[in-house]
Amino acid sequence: MIYEDYYIFTPGPVKMSDEILEVGAKQTPYFRNDKFSEVTFNCEKGLLKMVNAPEGSRVIFLTASGTAGMESSVMNLLTKDDNALVVHGGGFGGRFVDICATHNIPHTDFKVKNTNLHDIEELAPKEDYSTLIVNAHETSVGHLYDLDAMGAYAKKHNLFFIVDAISMLVTDPIDMSAQNIDVVIASSQKGLALPPGLTMVILAPSAINRVQDINNLYFNFTDYLRNGERGQTPYTPAVTIMLQLEARLAQIERRGGVGQSIQRAKDIAEYFRANIQDLPLKFYTPYMPNAMTTLTPTDGKNAMDIVNDLEDGYKVMVCPNGGAERELIFRVSHMGEMTKAYVDVLINAMYDYYSIKRK
Ligand SMILES: *Cc1c(COP(=O)(O)O)cnc(C)c1O
Repeated sequence: MIYEDYYIFTPGPVKMSDEILEVGAKQTPYFRNDKFSEVTFNCEKGLLKMVNAPEGSRVIFLTASGTAGMESSVMNLLTKDDNALVVHGGGFGGRFVDICATHNIPHTDFKVKNTNLHDIEELAPKEDYSTLIVNAHETSVGHLYDLDAMGAYAKKHNLFFIVDAISMLVTDPIDMSAQNIDVVIASSQKGLALPPGLTMVILAPSAINRVQDINNLYFNFTDYLRNGERGQTPYTPAVTIMLQLEARLAQIERRGGVGQSIQRAKDIAEYFRANIQDLPLKFYTPYMPNAMTTLTPTDGKNAMDIVNDLEDGYKVMVCPNGGAERELIFRVSHMGEMTKAYVDVLINAMYDYYSIKRK
């Protein structure tokens, strides 16, 4: 299968720009030198700016997928003396619950449904928590939580606030300073529109102060922070993806900054949603991110069949769900290098598939 021939609407990996693909096609350079340290510093600076991190924040670059960013954050920043409230509204929230259980971190599995937690104050169990953990965009169902409300709640109750922003960075707003966020977890293959393999943990000073002396070699944040002072990582980084990240951050700036990228994703998402109204599909949740739209067939069609038929018949890749919802919903990503003309290919394919004329 040649992916260049396909139209890509999967929520990671996402459609990448030609500029970034070109960086990836070059010989990987040696990295234990000042030249590469400069790349690391540029990436760190760009990411901190993107999330409006407080003064003194730092970024840890791990060569791993996003789950390693989630797990290493829990390993390095929480202890048995913590009590974490873990928001669980889908598969990724469930993963944080599993991570806390694996590392024996006391926690509450806070199952939520039909809310973006603007009302977290009323909904949250009335226990004495130290920490609040959320996947800002629960990608398994395309549901966005209210970070303003959660940040205010975290501040009021003096909670250490960990946010997995992997699938909403660059497409939806996040502000570490305004939303009292101590840790932001990012990953290369979603809104950043890079290949998978690089995960980044952004630590506010409040999080740096919490870094524990842990019994683990590869994911030891202390080592990453120390090496990071000279723009290096303890072990070989994903050199090429870091070069692509540097180029991508420059691209975002050149295009008017992250606010512009968010606006662009919003326009694309709204355009898609407005133009599929005549199809027998409904939105899965009212709390949709700009990053993605999750759809439920209303005519009894099997969602998995729709995904397969769009791929086979139109070379359009949308995304099925795992587990119980596999036949009930499917997902359309708006992350990455999207234009209205590109989205039109999907919209037209969907109308043709349903034999309905697009107005
Ligand atoms: C994709 C994703 C991850 C990371 O998954 P990996 O497969 O480990 O890269 C984590 N959290 C969310 C919300 C995601 O969408």
